Order: sequence, then C-alpha cells, then structure tokens
Amino acid sequence: MNYQEIIDQQRHFFNTNATKDISFRIKELKRLKDILKKNEALLYDSIYKDFKKSEFETYVTELSIIYHEIDLALVKVKKWAKKKRASTGLANLPGKSYIIPEPYGTILVIGAWNYPYQLSLCPAIAAIAAGCTVVLKPSEVPSHTAETMAKLINQNFDPSFFKVVEGGVKETTEILNVEFDKIFFTGSVPVGKIIYQAAAKHLTPVTLELGGKSPAIITKDVNIDMTAKRLIWAKFLNAGQTCIAPDYVLVESSIKDKLLSAMKEQIEKSDYNVDNDNYTQIINEKNFDRLNDMIDPNKVYTGGNGNKEERVIPPTVMKDVEFSDKVMQDEIFGPILPVITFNTIEEAIEKVKNLSKPLSCYVFTKNSTVKKKVLNEISFGGGAINDAMMHFTEQTLPFGGVGNSGIGNYHGKYGFETFSHYKSVLQKSFWIEPNFKYSPYSTKKLNFLKRFIGL
Ligand code: NAD
Repeated sequence: MNYQEIIDQQRHFFNTNATKDISFRIKELKRLKDILKKNEALLYDSIYKDFKKSEFETYVTELSIIYHEIDLALVKVKKWAKKKRASTGLANLPGKSYIIPEPYGTILVIGAWNYPYQLSLCPAIAAIAAGCTVVLKPSEVPSHTAETMAKLINQNFDPSFFKVVEGGVKETTEILNVEFDKIFFTGSVPVGKIIYQAAAKHLTPVTLELGGKSPAIITKDVNIDMTAKRLIWAKFLNAGQTCIAPDYVLVESSIKDKLLSAMKEQIEKSDYNVDNDNYTQIINEKNFDRLNDMIDPNKVYTGGNGNKEERVIPPTVMKDVEFSDKVMQDEIFGPILPVITFNTIEEAIEKVKNLSKPLSCYVFTKNSTVKKKVLNEISFGGGAINDAMMHFTEQTLPFGGVGNSGIGNYHGKYGFETFSHYKSVLQKSFWIEPNFKYSPYSTKKLNFLKRFIGL
C-alpha cells in the first residue's frame, strides 16, 4: 500500500466520525497501554540492542513517561474535549458563545532517535486523545526499536486509525508529499526546516520540537555538591543524547575549580563509565566521530578517549572553553560538557543571547535578582531553577521550544490542544432581531450604535 492509500484510508475512517466519540479514544488509549505493558520485555530488549541501555533508564526515561501520558489522558480527556462557554457581547444578545475542540483529522508524527519510544508515542497519544488518526514514522536510526514499534502497533491497531510506517530520508520525503491535517516533528533544526517547507505546500500546520544549545548558568552562592549532582545526572543520562540536557555550563569564575572537582567526584560515584555494561552507547559511528571531533584534548578536565568499536565516550568535562571553540559551534548531543566562566550575570546573559534561543535554560542560584534577570531577559522553551531537565516530567507544563528550538508544544492538556482546532460558535435564536445594524442607515441609528457599542 502506498502512502497516499494509507492516508486516504485514514481520512475515510476519520470522516465516519468514529474518533469523535470519547469512548472510542479511551478504548484505543487503553489498548495501547495494554499492548505496551504486555510487551515490556520486547521494549527493554530492543532499546538494549540499540543503545545498551539498562532497564532502569528505559523505564524512567521512556516507559514511565508514556504510561503517565496515557493515564492522564484517560482521566482528563472528557474534560478537555468538552465545549467551553465564552461570554457574549451586548450586540449579540440574546445569544450564547462557545468553543468546540475539534480534532484536526489525520496526523503525521515523525520521531527522533534518542528516546525512540516516548518521542514517537507521546505525540501519538495526544493525537488519539484529541480524536485524530495517526501515521507514525519513527526514526530509522535505532533499527530495533523502530521495528518493534511497527510490529506492536501494526499488529494491534486498525491501519485506518493508527499505522506505523518505517523508513529514512527517502521514505519521509515521499510521505511529506501527501497532505495531512497536521504534522508533528521531533528532530534537528535543519530537518525541521525541510518539514516546514513541505508542510507549507499544503498549508498544513506543524509542531516542530527541535534542539539547540541549552545553557546551565551557575552563580557563586549555590550548594556546589548538589548542583554538581543534578548537572551530572542531567548531562550524562542517555550519554548526553538528550535534547534538553545542559549543553554547556556557564559558571561564575570564583567557584569554577570547586564546581569542576565536585562534578568529577559525582561522575566517579555514578554508573556513568565505559566499563559499565549499561553505559549508554553513542547511537552510531557517524555520531561517535562527530563527538570525538569536538573534544580538544588540551581542554579535557576529565574523560576524553572514547572507544569507537564499542561506541562509548566517557563522561567528558572540558575546562577553559571559549565560545569560539569547536565544541561551542553546534548542539553537542553527547557526553561532553564544556565549562565556560563569567564574572557578571549581565555578561553571562549576553553570551547566551548571542546564540539562538535555546530549548532549555537552567539557572542555579540563591540570588533572586539573578533568577528574575535570567527569566526576564533570556527567551527559551522551558527550564528549571536549581535543577536540570526535570521540568520535562511535569505534565502540567507545556513542553516545546521557541525560535530556532521549535514551534508549538505538547504534554498533557497541551498535547490535546496541539491536535485540536478550537472552533468558535455564536448561537442565536429566532426570538428577536433588533433593526439597528440593517439598512436603510440613518444618523439616528449611527448615534444609537455609537452609544450602544461605547466607542
Ligand atoms: P533528525 O532531524 O536527523 O531526524 C528526525 C527525523 O527526521 C527522523 O525520523 C528522520 O528519519 C527524519 N529525517 C532525517 N532527515 C530527513 C530529511 N532530509 N527529510 C525528511 N525527513 C528526514 O534528528 P535526530 O538525529 O533523530 O535527533 C536529534 C535532534 O533532535 C537534536 O537536534 C535534538 O536536539 C533534537 N531533539 C529534539 C527533541 C525535542 O523534544 N525538542 C527531542 C529529541 C531530539
């Protein structure tokens, strides 16, 4: 079946209005959770084959997030889908106004490779909750997870409602020729631009979840050990292959040495080392070479020296880094943490603002003026104060970028909204129809209207 036939089938199914029934959405979400629960062993195994990742990390960073998203939708979808009352102005009385959340229709979700399950399935869950049909194109890079997802979804769902198609650049380019009602893309900035251009041909709305260089700004008054502990976890989880990992550290120069040594201690205490069989691998050789190339051996504080055969790079902290260094030219997306110093918060903010708007920004400080300044002056997708990455786990917060780091957002209710059109309706009765807006016009009518509208 070609892509046009798949989407024609989905459009036909959508037009039967079956997905508008909330009980249908609930049934399908429960089916998805059930399939995932029953096949957890397969999910763990495929992630291990692609990344050597432990069950613990797979549960925390993939499965628990998917289950949460399904559970929240199951509890809230009725409320989210309800029509909402809006106030009605004098000119339209007697009448009432309301807003109806309406599913966009047929959705294309394109996933990234770094958390292959949750980055593909969470948007699909939101689309299903909103009453859409879904074509999901996971990243082809982690081949075992892509294959597992295709098998589990395609064996258990009606393809006219939810279908996984596998493939890389060639296949995605072909899919993008077909007209969807919305495209949800997670991936890199350059490919995000390709998606946006392809969507423009059909005026298809998009959500783009992209990347960038997310800073962690650290002032001299912090609890250094706790800061180091939170930073090291956030940076080296998944071997740094996380879109919201702190990309680089900007530290107040007076505590640079203490922070470096605290970070080294945290790395040594952790399981993040190449001798651990569950230390996450770099996804492929191409990325291994790209990362290796970013490491300047003269600036390595700890780490360096990866093993190409095993595709592992130890947690690497680089010191005395400057913005002109290679490691600062692009998003790192791997286990390398450059540390740059600053003397005033104004200087740090200016340095961050010289780069594209980041997906995330973290500030570690006890100083409320610094906190306010960072929040007020730096534009970023989302972030945390005195922590890193954990904002992602809050389903009450919309997740997404701004500027180069993305367009739109999702998670929880925001995911539902992303796949819904909010249809506005004014409802009148036949009870009465004042004459003042109708011709023939007169000065008297105009004066009345001016008083009535109050302008
Ligand atoms: P990528 O852009 O290379 O690939 C993403 C998807 O696009 C894949 O499914 C791939 O098959 C497809 N694709 C690749 N090239 C294409 C082309 N020329 N035409 C059409 N489709 C194409 O990204 P990636 O390497 O999978 O992921 C890494 C990037 O994603 C990083 O920049 C990271 O920050 C970002 N990311 C963002 C988020 C987020 O939530 N904002 C999450 C994870 C990753």
